[in-house]
Amino acid sequence: MNILVINCGSSSLKFQLIDSETEKCIAKGLCERIGIEGSQITYTPDGGEKEQTVTPMPDHTEAIRLVLEALTNEKTGVVKSLDEIGAVGHRIVHGGEKFAASTIITDEVMKAIEECNDLAPLHNPANLIGINACRKLMPTTPMVAVFDTAFHQTMPEEAYMYGLPYEYYEKYKIRRYGFHGTSHSYVSKKAAEVLGKKYEDLKIIVCHLGNGASVSAVKNGKCVDTSMGLTPLEGLIMGTRSGDIDPAIMEFIAHKEGKNIDEIMTVLNKKSGVYGLSNNLSSDFRDLEAGYNNGDAHCIRTMNTYCYRVAKYIGSYVAAMNGVDVICFTAGIGENAPLVRSLVCEHLGFLGVSIDEEANHKRGEEIAISTPDSKTTVMVIPTNEELAIARETVSLVK
Ligand code: ADP
Repeated sequence: MNILVINCGSSSLKFQLIDSETEKCIAKGLCERIGIEGSQITYTPDGGEKEQTVTPMPDHTEAIRLVLEALTNEKTGVVKSLDEIGAVGHRIVHGGEKFAASTIITDEVMKAIEECNDLAPLHNPANLIGINACRKLMPTTPMVAVFDTAFHQTMPEEAYMYGLPYEYYEKYKIRRYGFHGTSHSYVSKKAAEVLGKKYEDLKIIVCHLGNGASVSAVKNGKCVDTSMGLTPLEGLIMGTRSGDIDPAIMEFIAHKEGKNIDEIMTVLNKKSGVYGLSNNLSSDFRDLEAGYNNGDAHCIRTMNTYCYRVAKYIGSYVAAMNGVDVICFTAGIGENAPLVRSLVCEHLGFLGVSIDEEANHKRGEEIAISTPDSKTTVMVIPTNEELAIARETVSLVK
């Protein structure tokens, strides 16, 4: 069955068509600047040329219409008609406490997702618009919602509660939720599979290090803690997000710089992280790695601080699980930056971690990068959120 995977943002939409039998991506692409002047669609069929077309996209329905047209196009399309698309899997950012698993989309589910809008005001409304647009154009095709938060719903209360007045939890559901759940679930399962061990027997720590970044602790196949919280701002230092800070810093900056809460949130979300810490040099680790190797002080400080924070989270999750068998690195930085993996692992001597630098410099493989005598196994496992969404979708519609 062909599964269309949709990841819909407020002005962009990523898509992949995946054959669920071969698990191959048949075509993929991206719509950008939806509702903004200069919108364009990029479409790449498997084995074919990448096509970029600048065309008006006043709304998401038009964007989806263009995606479906590209997929069924006589010359460059990959299917003859929409009947060859068996189901659509939608990535939904926030499922709150309502969704601990993926689900078939019904009117009731739409309402429940909408009730989570407060928790992700930038993302959930855009996700809903994407679903509505698809339902309009493919009214008889089953749709599935796959939530970024669902995998983390197994966290125990002691891991998800904040030290805040309890009434905020009761009134507003303020608690830790975690994100990147599809990736943490996919990568931890894959690690067990590659090692030939039972998922339910392992204590696994997954470091998903991309533009957004989070660490999770997966004990016996269940997530017991993760570093992002009510929103994706908590936890690691990220591309442009601050991660954990003393909340009193917000009041301090407000007074010193005359900023209001919205302006401060923009600083914490868009101007902080490795970008801010490197004195606005770059949020991209390729630039930071080059600077680090050239002895640039801003890059050295940024790289060390970033890796120290990752190691600190790993240490705390060893405590959370009373041990660890496997540590996995994944996503843009985790998969492609051997320097980051090396610097993080330098802090992990207490776990008996020893890295094979030759293996650490290999690319694009599911591979153990620790030496055979390392007490803890360290691996690189490329993530594949779209495939994970396609698998979830098939399992619900079959
Ligand atoms: P997103 O959170 O947007 O999905 P990704 O997981 O794609 O992010 O990660 C993007 C980041 O990965 C880039 O900003 C860059 O810092 C990093 N990255 C990508 N390729 C490399 C590379 N070859 N070396 C170092 N870092 C890389």
